Amino acid sequence: MNAVESKKAQHFIDIEDAHGAHNYHPLPVVLERGEGVYVWDVDGKRYYDFLSAYSAVNQGHCHPAIVGAMDQQARTLTLTSRAFHNNKLGEFEKYITEYFKFDKVLPMNTGAEAVETAIKIARKWAYEKKGVEEKDAQIIVVDNNFHGRTTTIISFSNDENARKNFGPYTPGFIKIPYNDMPALEKALQQDNIAGFMVEPIQGEAGVFVPADDYMRNARDLCKKHNALFIADEIQTGIARTGALLAVCGQCDCQGHCERQEATYARPDILILGKALSGGAYPVSAVLADNHVMDVINPGQHGSTFGGNPVAAAVGVAALQVIKDENLAQNARELGNYFRAKINEYIETTDTVVLVRGRGLLNAIVINDSEEGDTAWNICLRLRDHGLLAKPTHGNIIRFAPPLVMNKEQLDECIAIIIKTLKEFE
Ligand SMILES: *Cc1c(COP(=O)(O)O)cnc(C)c1O
Repeated sequence: MNAVESKKAQHFIDIEDAHGAHNYHPLPVVLERGEGVYVWDVDGKRYYDFLSAYSAVNQGHCHPAIVGAMDQQARTLTLTSRAFHNNKLGEFEKYITEYFKFDKVLPMNTGAEAVETAIKIARKWAYEKKGVEEKDAQIIVVDNNFHGRTTTIISFSNDENARKNFGPYTPGFIKIPYNDMPALEKALQQDNIAGFMVEPIQGEAGVFVPADDYMRNARDLCKKHNALFIADEIQTGIARTGALLAVCGQCDCQGHCERQEATYARPDILILGKALSGGAYPVSAVLADNHVMDVINPGQHGSTFGGNPVAAAVGVAALQVIKDENLAQNARELGNYFRAKINEYIETTDTVVLVRGRGLLNAIVINDSEEGDTAWNICLRLRDHGLLAKPTHGNIIRFAPPLVMNKEQLDECIAIIIKTLKEFE
């Protein structure tokens, strides 16, 4: 299934296969260059990137402003550790907290580390602020969640592949169905609940979009029961879904409408990663207000690379690009257009069951079983036609191009997608 026609590409696939752990099953294509919405393989063939490294590359590949900031900082000072101050971290912290309107930020590197950070903060808050008995705090999570790959995080996954034979598992998590308000209300009855951690749209699960009022109602219930509302926006955040944050819904405020309680499900803890660096560097962050973040004191959490000067410079540049280029609005408009066009096609065919998503985070469901291989085969043909996407399940393909795409490019992509799907009718 991994064979490619190009000898050159096969060489790189073979050495990965021989020397790398087999913890991924990549689509057989070997990339060597990227720019904006495009990537090129080792034979010089150009593709539209419709995965954007799982939404890390929202600002487009090798964005000059981001790469420029990284290059300049890398030549000046790369790492001090947090044993000393540096002249970049504070600037980043000020910038990102004003940008998302939270009191404080705790910078980390990968998404999973930021999730772990949120879990630690929530537990400590439960003991020190809510008065939960020590070692008893529970965090409510949902079925089919994806929050990363650490031992603790996979402990509350229900993907057997991600969990099996990795036990013993970390306790302290209660799982309820997604998009199920009565289940949340019931779980929140316990007096040992630290918080509710949730993705506003479930990306890895296949771009599941919950009810419009799910996030707001969840936030209200958490508030009522004195539990933290924790939003994992690592994939949905930073303009991907047509707003700065997906908890912002479909309004135009770009996450800046926290006074409009009706539309913004403001989290108590906001988790960001991926596009926080535009794909240039691992940068993640946890944001919260003082009454939550204050539970963390010196020596209680950290990371050698967390908040390093390069990450700080890259983080500021990556967020600036989102605003300068109006990427939330572009994602919203192009997303509406994309779903309308795919829906027109769906009217004419039985191959595709539906398209769903928000902004430029979308997925199509293929008329096949979850264990089927049609989605994989479609992705191979899409590759042949110059567009790279990846199934999230046997019958679901996610479409998430960089947000710097324009309408002409999207039209060309829609034509490629429909042409390819027609080959499977
Ligand atoms: C990708 C992702 C993570 C994990 O991020 P890593 O950088 O891969 O550790 C966590 N939560 C969500 C929603 C994600 O999409």
